[in-house]
Amino acid sequence: MATDPACIFCKIVRKEINAQEVLRDEHVVAFRDLNPQAPTHILVVPTEHAAHLSDFTQTAEDVRAARLLAAASELGRRFGTNGYRVVINEGPDAGQSVHHLHAHVLAGRHLAWPPG
Ligand code: 5GP
Ligand code: ZN
Repeated sequence: MATDPACIFCKIVRKEINAQEVLRDEHVVAFRDLNPQAPTHILVVPTEHAAHLSDFTQTAEDVRAARLLAAASELGRRFGTNGYRVVINEGPDAGQSVHHLHAHVLAGRHLAWPPG
């Protein structure tokens, strides 16, 4: 399985560092964000390392790509009784700070649009 020894989210996938996990299977791990921006703020990461969404969509099997979106939706429905938002940041303009693809699932408050 593709993994990056220095990557913080690969370390969470390998359970080398702790995270508050809410879902784990063969394809994804989901855990609570360390610095939550909403009452529910969960990150969903593929278990194989891919730095960005555009790498992942070019290299991952369709089942793995589909699972990322399905897991985000399952968690949104579980925690966002009044709706939820799924966000993926890629690159400097979007403010990506961890270079292992992750979908943010935000819920539990009204989320303004457009985002900042
Ligand atoms: P980005 O800005 O790359 O889209 O989001 C990275 C997210 O990862 C941030 O919301 C940040 O709070 C979260 N984060 C960074 N390091 C850790 C960590 O070690 N554990 C957890 N649970 N979240 C982290
Ligand atoms: Zn990684």
